[in-house]
Amino acid sequence: MKTIDIIVPCYNEEEVLPLFVKETNEVIATIEHYSFRYIFVDDGSKDKTLKVLKTLASRFSNVKYISFSRNFGKESAMYAGLENSTADYVIVMDADLQHPPKMFPAMIQGIEEGNDCCALYRAKQTGESKIRQLVSKIFFSFQNNISDVKMPDGAVDYRIMSRKMVDAILKLSEVQRFSKGIFCWVGFKTKWIEYQNVERTVGETKWSLWGLFKYALDGITAFSVTPLRLIAVMGFVISLLAFIYIIVTLIQTLCFGIDVPGYVTTLCATLFLGGIIELSVGILGEYIGRIYMETKNRPIYIMGETNLDDEDIL
Ligand code: UDP
Ligand code: MG
Repeated sequence: MKTIDIIVPCYNEEEVLPLFVKETNEVIATIEHYSFRYIFVDDGSKDKTLKVLKTLASRFSNVKYISFSRNFGKESAMYAGLENSTADYVIVMDADLQHPPKMFPAMIQGIEEGNDCCALYRAKQTGESKIRQLVSKIFFSFQNNISDVKMPDGAVDYRIMSRKMVDAILKLSEVQRFSKGIFCWVGFKTKWIEYQNVERTVGETKWSLWGLFKYALDGITAFSVTPLRLIAVMGFVISLLAFIYIIVTLIQTLCFGIDVPGYVTTLCATLFLGGIIELSVGILGEYIGRIYMETKNRPIYIMGETNLDDEDIL
């Protein structure tokens, strides 16, 4: 019998967790020849998530949990789950039932067809605001165009992976994680299947628009240095234009004497170049800040408590 670990990052999900386990258990009951185990990662929740997890663990022997010492973010929670998983296959999914467990049979079939991974992407972004849909669309096309990792528009962190792939992912131990990119970066045969997005039934999204923007920036800087190249290209083009302008002005001055009025030109050039320099320094700063954080080599998460046995923990 093959084993499957279901990794579920949870941040303030006390309301939805009992429902999540109920619905998922119903799906699991219909799947033969596999044994399932949950690894819930309580990401420093401020509500009673941990208490709910403990109650669930006392009712179901296959419910395991890891609790963080504080909120480290979903990326860290996913890493902790993967690091502590031991099963043949690992499923990563959200707690809020936006990743419907009824997709399990199709996912398992997908991976048993000889793939290392079966991942999902949203067919339709129902239940999302127009502005979020737009941000998401821009992000995916930007990411796919300028970096080495390619993913379909609407790719989510809901997937099943083989042990081999999970071990590869764990080797990428950067602190500022962008799992969507990491999953693609490690390679392996991935089958993409479509699913209908569902609205969050209980609780609310943990992402603000600013949070999503920072996440997108993390994604782009983690897998591409194209913005740095763009600065260099921009510098080159501006220098070239400036050189041409200097030559033209020199000739003009030599032939026709000094033309004093030039206030508007000077002002425009100063402002324009000032803006470009600020932007370039900003982009450089984004990368340098990330280098700085990464060189500290801090742990990705700190565990508060767990009900995983010693032999479960690697
Ligand atoms: N989550 C987490 N830590 C956080 C924020 C979110 O573990 O700091 C979990 C959350 O509990 C959920 C999943 O990540 O299981 C996705 O979060 P959410 O539903 O808020 O994101 P959305 O579906 O809106 O992208
Ligand atoms: Mg959600």
